Amino acid sequence: MSVDLKSLSTGLLVGLAAGYLLSSARSPPPRPPGSSAPNPSRGKRGYVVGGNWKCNGTAASAAALVETLNGAGPIPENVQVVVAVPSVHVPLVLGSLRSDIEVAAQDCGANAKCGAFTGEIFAGQLLDLGVTWVVLGHSERRAAGESSALVADKCAVAVKEGLRVMLCVGESLEEREAGLTAQVVASQLAPAAKKLSKADWGKVVIAYEPVWAIGTGKTATPDMAQETHKEIRTWMSKNVGADVAASIQIQYGGSMKGANAKGLLSKEDIDGGLIGGASLTADFFNVINGVPM
Ligand code: PEP
Repeated sequence: MSVDLKSLSTGLLVGLAAGYLLSSARSPPPRPPGSSAPNPSRGKRGYVVGGNWKCNGTAASAAALVETLNGAGPIPENVQVVVAVPSVHVPLVLGSLRSDIEVAAQDCGANAKCGAFTGEIFAGQLLDLGVTWVVLGHSERRAAGESSALVADKCAVAVKEGLRVMLCVGESLEEREAGLTAQVVASQLAPAAKKLSKADWGKVVIAYEPVWAIGTGKTATPDMAQETHKEIRTWMSKNVGADVAASIQIQYGGSMKGANAKGLLSKEDIDGGLIGGASLTADFFNVINGVPM
């Protein structure tokens, strides 16, 4: 059989060009820009408002929620907004969400590299996709058996890889009623304090989420939340350093929504929120706009 080298090389070039066009057609369009609104009240530390979508939705409902957020108006300039989406929806959201809202994962593994860790997601893989935050130690994961030591290991890996972390802590109703709130929260923070350097803490936000308030419609009053936030800051000052304690942002989470956000966010030591149910609706933006102006 004779081979026509000229037509073979022409075919090869056409194939390569088609492949190139196909791959560039596949790369996602740039994310829509979003917009920021001036806020004369800078706040001491600025605010972080996270939406926790939990294990909710389909690709179609995630796309619809992205559209709602994209059309929801400007974000006050001192508020960092992040949505923690189910892992399966991360690429979809990263390819379409306005660029002034960052994307978080809801967990990552304690494995410090890729490899034989079936079912885990390595923090570096999240960064590789464009994810910049991860929620760790959420009470729903603690209820599934995660210890504070494991959460601390995950924090260390995530921070080392370059992710920012929302580290969740919070007491159960029985613990609150027994007067153990400060003790419980301290015991949840202590393993992380052993693992993380002061510089590492610069990448961490603490989310104080009383377990009895998550998904129940019962919110801590602004005074109750403020009291625990202050205790957390005091604990951080004694156990990590006064500078870290002064600068670390502490979010409140637990049935926070547009209707109660202003009261909570007006408190001295409350630097944002982690929002579950309300982050699945346009009310998420009422929380964002609840920051002091
Ligand atoms: C959460 O999931 O972290 C949370 C605070 O949920 P909700 O706002 O629904 O109570």
